[in-house]
Amino acid sequence: MEGQVTKRKEPLRVLVISAHPDDVDFGCGGTLAKWAREGAEIVYTICTSGEKGTDDPSMTNLALALTREKEQRAAAEVIGAKEVIFLRKPDGELQYSLEFRGELVRVIRQFRPGIIFTHDPANRAFDNQYIFHADHRVVGELVFDATYPAALNRNYYPGHLAEGLAPHAASEFYFFATSQPDTWVDIESTLELKIKALRCHASQIKDPKTMEELVRTWFGAWGREKGLAFAERFRRVQIFHDPAKRLQYLKKSLR
Ligand SMILES: [Zn+2]
Repeated sequence: MEGQVTKRKEPLRVLVISAHPDDVDFGCGGTLAKWAREGAEIVYTICTSGEKGTDDPSMTNLALALTREKEQRAAAEVIGAKEVIFLRKPDGELQYSLEFRGELVRVIRQFRPGIIFTHDPANRAFDNQYIFHADHRVVGELVFDATYPAALNRNYYPGHLAEGLAPHAASEFYFFATSQPDTWVDIESTLELKIKALRCHASQIKDPKTMEELVRTWFGAWGREKGLAFAERFRRVQIFHDPAKRLQYLKKSLR
């Protein structure tokens, strides 16, 4: 997997779970736009509506939450995602709880994704104030635990069975905002869509030109690591359900 540049052909179901509006577009918007154009079905679940994201004393939390939900929906349309779910948890106050984990298990069992994108729960470098937001850390951990073992084991949240929600086994994580990338996705063809989606978050962008320059510089640098014009980087983790494949993987990783 090391240094792999991925190309994906078959249609798939992709669930993205992030803490705030705009995390998705920064983290993986180029990859999602590319996959959407290849036929992937994409759903976003945004845990908060980002209502604390302002310094304007005249802006109420409710007004900003509504604005940011609208901005995120517009951005999702640019990317080609089919649905945006807002869990409306309090911005900046996310905490790990079994109840919150259960809400994520419900989304996983409803949409039944093959691939799940989220914040990298292993990222503890604390070298960037945007990436190391406490909400990002909590969501990364919750998504990991909700996916495995909770969503695929019928004994977790058994009430879901009565609602007709069967256990579900996703096959792979793509963690964005990672300090241990192992997968680079070429986003040259969708960089403009990523920037267009980011521009939708107008309440968060003081200077669109600077934002655009930052995106070109940042994702250009990541692209150059693999000889590409622009790339998004991820840490990819496969979830093995077949014992034989799991053993094969373990043997390979012990070498
Ligand atoms: Zn965020």
